[in-house]
Amino acid sequence: MADVLEIEGLTKHFPGHAALEDLTLGIAEGEFFSLLGPSGCGKTTTLRLIAGFETPTRGDIRLRGKSQNSLRPYERNVSTVFQSYALFPHLTVRENIEFGLRYRRKGNGAALVRQSIEMLELGGKEMRKPDELSGGEKQRVALARSLVIEPDVLLLDEPLSALDPNLRKQVRSELKALQRRVGITFVFITHDQEEALSMSDRIALLNHGRLEQLGTPHELYLAPRSRFAAAFLGPVNWIDHVGLRPEATRLLARPTEGLHSVAATIESSTFLGNCVHVEARTSGGTLVVAEVSRLNGKWQAGQPIHICWDPGDEIRLPPA
Ligand code: ATP
Repeated sequence: MADVLEIEGLTKHFPGHAALEDLTLGIAEGEFFSLLGPSGCGKTTTLRLIAGFETPTRGDIRLRGKSQNSLRPYERNVSTVFQSYALFPHLTVRENIEFGLRYRRKGNGAALVRQSIEMLELGGKEMRKPDELSGGEKQRVALARSLVIEPDVLLLDEPLSALDPNLRKQVRSELKALQRRVGITFVFITHDQEEALSMSDRIALLNHGRLEQLGTPHELYLAPRSRFAAAFLGPVNWIDHVGLRPEATRLLARPTEGLHSVAATIESSTFLGNCVHVEARTSGGTLVVAEVSRLNGKWQAGQPIHICWDPGDEIRLPPA
């Protein structure tokens, strides 16, 4: 099936600054797609270009095969959920959702509003104003307002960042379930690797305005193609030129057949509740962090140990 959204050679230069350079990728119908990367890497610029709030310096954006470059934001069948939600404080929940339809002619507006209210479980709260809602409810209103136009693609700009940490985790799974239910393609922006890993079908990792790597969460985490990608997706130990995630790092009394190993000395151990972080220094002087179960033993500073790992867990970067 053709991709619902195709981005080709997309480039955006601001005076004296290249925010996005030659981005090419396709997003499949119904995909939960994340744009991940550090602050300033070009995520928001990409989203704004797709939405039509910025004009590309070069390149093309096609929605269902049709170039969007000459279309105004309201002429594109995409919808954006902003970080701040941008709800109107003086309007009720229902009016906020209806506002989504203001610039889009949809014959069955009332039915779509009703459907959005039901889908986001906002029934009974239609007459409330935003300041009478919890953070999670405000977010659901913002989603309802965006989904009411039945967009081909829903763009989400760090929509979880306004929520407190506990709620964030809960909303993550709700958002993913909602996306599966409505079947709409989501393009989700985040700088949080755990958020991207836990929700996405695929992730595009950006770095300084360029596509660093594109792949599934498993591919990015387990087979990063650069040191930047390896480090951005989570902690990694580099032993010689081999990368090893802390949870794949084992601490054993002696070398074991089938595992690679290196001699080391324990430096410290920190109990974190669900696991123990143990720091050990190899005989070559490299500090290695292992994330181990508290059931696996006790670790004392100065204790000699062997750092062992399954060769299948090694991260090997392609030659530069
Ligand atoms: P964050 O996570 O901090 O929002 P981001 O990855 O979304 O970052 P962008 O907002 O896309 O990054 O910005 C990419 C780069 O382009 C940044 O260096 C930013 O300063 C620059 N930039 C963005 N908008 C403009 C503008 N209107 N004029 C000039 N430079 C801009």
